[in-house]
Amino acid sequence: MHCPFCSATDTKVIDSRLVSDGYQVRRRRECLQCRERFTTFEIAELVTPKIIKSNDNRVPFDEKKLRSGMMRALEKRPVSADDVEKSVNHIIHQLQATGEREVPSKLVGTLVMEELKKLDKVAYIRFASVYLSFDDIKQFGDEIEKLTDEAKSRD
Ligand SMILES: [Zn+2]
Repeated sequence: MHCPFCSATDTKVIDSRLVSDGYQVRRRRECLQCRERFTTFEIAELVTPKIIKSNDNRVPFDEKKLRSGMMRALEKRPVSADDVEKSVNHIIHQLQATGEREVPSKLVGTLVMEELKKLDKVAYIRFASVYLSFDDIKQFGDEIEKLTDEAKSRD
């Protein structure tokens, strides 16, 4: 990185240590040109990406909307609020882990489907039937049929 004093491009790290309980790295650097020293901090950037909707609009990720969408699919199903919360957090974590500034809404939908599939097959089918387009549903037909049979035999 450039020296903040003389803008030279060559600086060297002379010390590096973990701070903030290990969530930050503090580095002492020295400019090879002017010999000034300065400190930099490095922290993980956890940004929840913006969502690109199908009409190409960018909207901020909405955790409440995600949760309510999942709750709607899970209505009257035997799934605890705790488990829903874990799934919501898991989805957010996966979105952050992409490292992208923007992701298509389709990705969120796919992540929700994966989580619902683990939580409750009926909720999964409910969500998929609302979320997927008709063509997707046709491709998806066999799997849904299989899952519906499974769910019926359990209910
Ligand atoms: Zn310098």
